[in-house]
Amino acid sequence: MGLTKISQGYVWVKNRWHPKANRGYVKRAILVLEQKLGRELTPEEMSHHIDGNRMNDDPANLEVTTRSEHMSIHKPVIKRWDKNKKHRTPCSVTVKRRPSTEATQ
Ligand SMILES: [Zn+2]
Repeated sequence: MGLTKISQGYVWVKNRWHPKANRGYVKRAILVLEQKLGRELTPEEMSHHIDGNRMNDDPANLEVTTRSEHMSIHKPVIKRWDKNKKHRTPCSVTVKRRPSTEATQ
């Protein structure tokens, strides 16, 4: 798919001509989603990582949402986590907290 980099927890692909490119890179999630849909995302549409892992760009893990849908998916959780000043970025907030697995210590 070309040169990639990781930034803000996302995988980006170098593509300066893509309508959703940001400083010459477009989120790989968007490219995968567009391939899955067979069309370009509209400016109102956003990619959402179903499992909350922003680097899991598997087509099965990606769904298209509108901006407002995406907000409502994340909003309640963002609010709660904001209080603790962590995990504020959309698409990381739906990750379920892993139970502590330090029994073998
Ligand atoms: Zn999301």
